[in-house]
Amino acid sequence: MKILPPSLLIALAAIPLLRAEPPLNETVPPPDKTAVYSPVPPVVVAPEGGVPSDAIVLFDGKNLDAWEPEKAGSPGWKLENGVMVVVPGAGDIRTKRAFGDIQLHIEFREPSPAHGNGQYRGNSGVFLMGLYELQIMDSYENPTYVNGQAGAMYKQYAPLVNPSRPPGVWQTYDVIFRAARFAATGVVISPARVTVFYNGVAVQADVALGGWTRNKGYPHYEPTPDKLPLSLQEHPQAPGSGPVAFRNIWVRELHLPPTP
Ligand code: MG
Repeated sequence: MKILPPSLLIALAAIPLLRAEPPLNETVPPPDKTAVYSPVPPVVVAPEGGVPSDAIVLFDGKNLDAWEPEKAGSPGWKLENGVMVVVPGAGDIRTKRAFGDIQLHIEFREPSPAHGNGQYRGNSGVFLMGLYELQIMDSYENPTYVNGQAGAMYKQYAPLVNPSRPPGVWQTYDVIFRAARFAATGVVISPARVTVFYNGVAVQADVALGGWTRNKGYPHYEPTPDKLPLSLQEHPQAPGSGPVAFRNIWVRELHLPPTP
């Protein structure tokens, strides 16, 4: 018997996948057989430029009640003229509430005028579940290592593009985060995944994270609870710099499937 070469076998195997129409002897179901009517997606009111009705508001300019300092004895950050500002030396802050899979909206403003260069210009960050840093810094005409610039998943993924606005101008992150899934043994079933829009521009498209953010060494996972607080970073800045500021922070819990 003649044995066909592997390349031809692969080509023959692909033929059924490529067909545009079913063979004549296959019954095609009527359109209503492929229409699904339940469960019905819940109604969410989404006002133009506003907060969706099922969002959990973490900061709306009135108070910092949703937040607490991570460092014991720290005074935390400050409310100034309706915005939240980082306090040098106060350390990171975190939400009192814990979150897993979320949609996050957060707005930040880099200090103006800019002081310093690289990582010391307006550095902060959003730590999803307190573990995975989405970098915040002033990356407007301020080069640094690319997997550490604004829009990077720090030390893991550089942003696809750099849509940074100048210092002093409000900017936005809109994030879809899917938490890592662990087996009972602690083995990672599926890694955490992130999509980020920076000022409305896609900079991370469903990237799979290699583990917790590390500044030194490589990321790796350790088993975690399903939900953990979100945290914001206080990072040393160049002398003379003003504080990074935040406004309009909200999340929606997503309840994504347990496995991909
Ligand atoms: Mg940072």
